[in-house]
Amino acid sequence: MIYKFGGASVKDADSVKNLAEILRNRLRKNLIIVVSAMGKTTNGLESILAKKLQSEDFSENSANLKTYHEAICRDLFPPDHSVFAKLDNLFHQLENDLQKKLTPENYDEFYDQIVSFGEVISSRIVAEYLCSQELIVLWQDARAVIHTDSDFRFAKIDWTKTRKSCQSEWKPLLENFPILTQGFIGSDPKGKTTTLGREGSDFTAAILATSLDAGAVTIWKDVPGVLNADPKLFQNTKKFDELGYAEAAEMTYFGASVIHPKTIKPLANAGIPLYVKSFLDPEAAGTKIHEQASAHQVPTIVLKKDQVLVSFKVTDFTFIEEKHIHRVYEQLQTLKLRVNMLQLSAISISIVIDTQLFKLERLMANLREEFEIRYNDGLELLTILHPIVADIPVLLQGFEVLLEQASRNTFQVVRRKS
Ligand code: ASP
Ligand code: MG
Repeated sequence: MIYKFGGASVKDADSVKNLAEILRNRLRKNLIIVVSAMGKTTNGLESILAKKLQSEDFSENSANLKTYHEAICRDLFPPDHSVFAKLDNLFHQLENDLQKKLTPENYDEFYDQIVSFGEVISSRIVAEYLCSQELIVLWQDARAVIHTDSDFRFAKIDWTKTRKSCQSEWKPLLENFPILTQGFIGSDPKGKTTTLGREGSDFTAAILATSLDAGAVTIWKDVPGVLNADPKLFQNTKKFDELGYAEAAEMTYFGASVIHPKTIKPLANAGIPLYVKSFLDPEAAGTKIHEQASAHQVPTIVLKKDQVLVSFKVTDFTFIEEKHIHRVYEQLQTLKLRVNMLQLSAISISIVIDTQLFKLERLMANLREEFEIRYNDGLELLTILHPIVADIPVLLQGFEVLLEQASRNTFQVVRRKS
């Protein structure tokens, strides 16, 4: 069994105490607990990197991050506890690594070395706290078993090697103790730290589940389960008691943030059920994602923010042909940009992509000679699965629509607050 606790479930001392209560009756051998960085730590580390890249002073940001973790520890531990020395040590290492040279060229590699501290620190604190509550867990470094390539920030899993390490190194440990480890991080063939993409801890849980033939994965969230819309953005949401793997995967594809998009596939292939449960109401059933779930037609709303609409217009008075599409896709692939929506007209290709540092500039630079390129940023991509047509106008009230696409089962618009 794998449990995954995300940033929100360890965001403060009370949350860590709550996590311990959830584990109190559930802790057993063969259990792996995967934790993310605490609260918004990853964003905090990203801001430090952004400042460093601009040669701005980031000392206040790193001091805040340290204060934040120390405050949590002061609430969880007596003042003479050894966790404080460990924390000092980790922040010392972080400060030291932050002194190294950062350029746009080594940004991705540098990013992984820095951002991974969030998970390492969090897992240390949580493991120490559990042990202090007589909930004995073994702290293990995920980088010892999660093997990836060297595609920093978007590292791909070496499944064979990962399975081998999990089986030889962790399986024997799990026969005696539960393991507590980090999500999101791995290591490349040289032993350098890599990360699996933002919010990748869910994926870690799935990787460990398949590599250890686990019976189930549970993701503990601040929502009652998988809902048909984000309750922070929409009213009258409905929880799914169960969902098929394909339906869940489709929702994540369009941007449902409740589960990381890469999580479903390995679990579906291995037939391992995924539970999404509330850490605020641990006894409640949540959502079970598995093969046999009955189909539903419940309208499901997914909103993806920070989108850019880019249009490529042919400049030579020809029409859009396959070669033009090919050229654009080739560049997107090189830059590892995924198209969230595509629309073709006679003379232009329009794509919607996530906003990512440097990427749009590079894309435009690489294709400037062949196309006239325009873009609009700060957009939202709204996807409705199984839409009820009459309900759509309400969702667009107060928004300007830049692009729209409908098929029988899916309705998508790119919108901007008007
Ligand atoms: N801490 C990482 C992030 O915020 C990974 C995760 O939370 O899953 O992206
Ligand atoms: Mg997170």
